[in-house]
Amino acid sequence: MDKCVVLKAESYDDSLLFDIVRRHFEQHDIKSKIPSGARVLLKPNLVVDKDAAFSVTTNPHFVYAVARNLKEIGVEDITVADCPGGALLLFSEMEAVYQKTGYSFLSEYAKLNTEFDSSDVLSADGSVNKSFNIINAIKDADYIINIPKLKTHNMTCITAGVKNLFGSIPGLQKPAFHAKYPAVKDFSNMLVELAQTVGADFTIIDAIDIMEGDGPTNGKKRHLGLTFSSCDVFSLDAFIIDLLGIPEDFVATVSASKQKNLINKGYEVIGDIDFRPEKPILLPSGFSAKSGIGKLTAKAKTTAEKLSSYVLIKYPKMNERCVLCKKCVVTCPKKALSVKEESIVLDKKKCIGCLCCDEVCPNAAVDIRKKIKTKK
Ligand code: SF4
Ligand code: SF4
Repeated sequence: MDKCVVLKAESYDDSLLFDIVRRHFEQHDIKSKIPSGARVLLKPNLVVDKDAAFSVTTNPHFVYAVARNLKEIGVEDITVADCPGGALLLFSEMEAVYQKTGYSFLSEYAKLNTEFDSSDVLSADGSVNKSFNIINAIKDADYIINIPKLKTHNMTCITAGVKNLFGSIPGLQKPAFHAKYPAVKDFSNMLVELAQTVGADFTIIDAIDIMEGDGPTNGKKRHLGLTFSSCDVFSLDAFIIDLLGIPEDFVATVSASKQKNLINKGYEVIGDIDFRPEKPILLPSGFSAKSGIGKLTAKAKTTAEKLSSYVLIKYPKMNERCVLCKKCVVTCPKKALSVKEESIVLDKKKCIGCLCCDEVCPNAAVDIRKKIKTKK
C-alpha cells in the first residue's frame, strides 16, 4: 500500500526545513530508491516570474532543503527544471525567472535548467493522448522529484501533485491543450495521462504558505503550515483534498485518477494526520458557488452540477493594472485577445474561459467575470 506523509512546518527557516525534508525522505526510504550516479530532476512550480512572497511559486528554500538532503545522501547530479506558462522562454528570460523567484542562489547546489528542447514520449495510458511532447531536462532524468506549491486553481479547483507536472510541456503547447480540451473533465483526464507518462518518482509539496481564492497566480496568500509527500502522486492529491475538506467532485484530476484505478487500492497516512484547517480553504469563485452541492439529494445534485457546468462561464476583463505587456495576447490559445487603442480587447465569441491569460499576467491585471452562456 502506498504511503502519504503530512508534517507540520511553521516557516521556511532553512534548518527547520532541512529536518522536515529529511523526515519525509526517511519515511519513504528515498536513499535506497535513488540509483547510484542518477541524474535527479527537481520539478518545482515556476509558473511566472514572481517573488516567493506572493506564494505563486514553490518557495526556493523548500527546494533548497530537498537539494541539501539529496547531497546528504550522496546525490551529486541535481537539476532544477520547469517550463513557465505562456510563450516559450528564451535563455535570458528563464534566468530572469530564477532571479525574480529567488532561485538564483540554488545554482551552488543544482543546475538551473534554461533549455526547452523537447521530445515526444509515448503516453503511459494512451487512451486519449498517444504521446506527449516533454522538455528533455525532465524526460532524460533518472529520478524525478515533483515539488509543487499547493494552490487553488480557477479551472482545476486545486493545483497540487498531478497538475504541477503540466509544466513538463513546453511553452505555447500548454495553452494549446486548453484549446483542445476546453471542458474541465477532459482537460483533467489529459493531466492524469500526462502525470502517468512523466512518472514522477517522488512528490513533496510546499503547503507552508499556500494560495487560496482565485489562484493559481492571482489568489490570496494563506499560511497553512504543512508539507506533504508520497511516491504516489495520485494518492497524495486525493489525501490532500480529503484532509482539507475539499469535495472530490470539485477536483476532476482526483476523479479521473479514481476512474483509472490509480487510487482505489488505498493508501496509508502518516504524520500530523489530525490537522484540520481553522477555516475552510477559500476556493475559486466558480467552485465556491457550487459549495453545498454535497448536501443535496442525488437528483438535485445532478441538476445543480449541470447548471453550474453549462450556464455560467468565466471570461477575463483587464483592469487598470494592465501595462500592455501582451503576454496574455501571445498566450491565448483561441486568439481571443488583441490590442486596440492602447487596451486589451476580448472577442467573447472566441473565448473558451480557460483563463491562461490570468495565469501568465504578471500584474494581477485580469479580473474574472462570469456570464450566462446562451443556449443554442
Ligand atoms: S492583462 Fe496582464 S498579461 Fe495582459 S497585457 Fe495586461 S499586464 Fe500584460
Ligand atoms: S481570453 Fe479566453 S480563451 Fe483566451 S486565454 Fe483568456 S480565458 Fe482563455
